[in-house]
Amino acid sequence: MNVIVFSSLKELSHQLERERRYRCESHRQKRDSNNGGGSLEDGRGEPWAVIQIRISKGWSYEDIEVFQDGGTQYAQRAGEAVLGFGKNGDHFTLEDESAFKLFAIYCALALHYSRIYTLLSHKHMKYQVAMDVLNYHISCSDDEYKALLKAPEIAENLIPADFDTYDFCCYDYTEHLPKLFIKLIQETFTNTFEMRKLCRFILTVRKNYRPVQYHNWEHGFHVGHSLWQMIRKCKFQFTNLEKMALIIGGVCHDIDHRGYNNDFFKKLKLPLAALYSTSLMEEHHYKQMITILHAEGHEIFSFLTADEHRLILDYIRKNIIATDLSLYFTNQKFLTGLIERKEFNPEVGAHRHGLLALMMTGADLCAIAKPWHTQQRTAKFIYDEFFMQGDEEKKRGLQPIPMMDRHYQDDIPKNQIGFISFICKPLYTTLSVLLPGTKRLLDGTITSMDKWKVEMEEQKAAREKATKEQSARAE
Ligand SMILES: [Zn+2]
Repeated sequence: MNVIVFSSLKELSHQLERERRYRCESHRQKRDSNNGGGSLEDGRGEPWAVIQIRISKGWSYEDIEVFQDGGTQYAQRAGEAVLGFGKNGDHFTLEDESAFKLFAIYCALALHYSRIYTLLSHKHMKYQVAMDVLNYHISCSDDEYKALLKAPEIAENLIPADFDTYDFCCYDYTEHLPKLFIKLIQETFTNTFEMRKLCRFILTVRKNYRPVQYHNWEHGFHVGHSLWQMIRKCKFQFTNLEKMALIIGGVCHDIDHRGYNNDFFKKLKLPLAALYSTSLMEEHHYKQMITILHAEGHEIFSFLTADEHRLILDYIRKNIIATDLSLYFTNQKFLTGLIERKEFNPEVGAHRHGLLALMMTGADLCAIAKPWHTQQRTAKFIYDEFFMQGDEEKKRGLQPIPMMDRHYQDDIPKNQIGFISFICKPLYTTLSVLLPGTKRLLDGTITSMDKWKVEMEEQKAAREKATKEQSARAE
């Protein structure tokens, strides 16, 4: 707002009237030319003020009221001032001038904040509408929900024989996974959860996994299942909230994964990288899970007290973030140090959190410990996804790391052996010291490494044979 100081009330009054007419006219023209007019929220219109002068008491006082955005019927009053004349009653004094300047600044600020408030409130409404649409689309369909709710328990003859072992592979049972999830939840927590909410929740979680090669719903299920196995097979005294945060956090830990790792988003400066500085996909998975939990009919933790609710969300967040493999190395070092010094104490918060985080990493990588057939199938999914990222990076002018470059796909056995020696074997060794009930995972990992070594030898022999045949043909 410009501040103009007038030498007399008459002059001020005329100027304000001219200003008001001019603004009314320009607003009308703008509205006509925009077919409905510029509005505050679409940026086409400008906020403007109507200043009204009203003689209130005789000739010696004037009320000045400032309104925003045309007319007074729906306008917000931004300010009000009463100006008095000097002794002579025919001119403004210096005090009047400075008071009016101050008043004008106040009005300008009031109008400015009023405009921001209007914009914010409009954006909030837009956000609410978008959330309604999003909630509708992220939710499972009513038909599948009703079908599951009608018969949530899986028939005995449909339960896979190895379901209660670490070896279970869900690839051939995808249609039964929601019921199998309900089975493991019911077995662990009896009737703690409301069945209606549990059914809707797990179907919506499934829907929110993308159909990527590896980080999909089946992978999420494997992780939740492995954590359930760890809880069942280990004598460790987990609290109920910890168990819920492990199993449910495990099933949800990769929701909305797009098949690209964190580096991809950073290298290409994609919006997710701007939102989070570290563990960006993991933060996103957690946020997606919270969105589902807040959606109508999905509030599976509504039976908890406010404190318990806060606590379980904190546990789940920590668990999901722990699946960022870059955080594993520090945690592994921390726990092995405690074991070596015989200082591990599950009653100490940091020790306990380290163990839970290691369980999450162990469950996330569980495919490496499963029987060879499952291991081979999973490795194919993993590398298909890696190569897809590599292809995308090449398309965008970047050079992928060799592991993601399909040009080096013969290196898969070598990469797998390196991955097991460097990460998986130390991980499951530490885990089986702290939780002996996870020893099967260590044994499975060692078996997988032996198999990959055989695979590498066979590949080498086949290559040598091909080279010999080629040179024989050349001779
Ligand atoms: Zn994962």
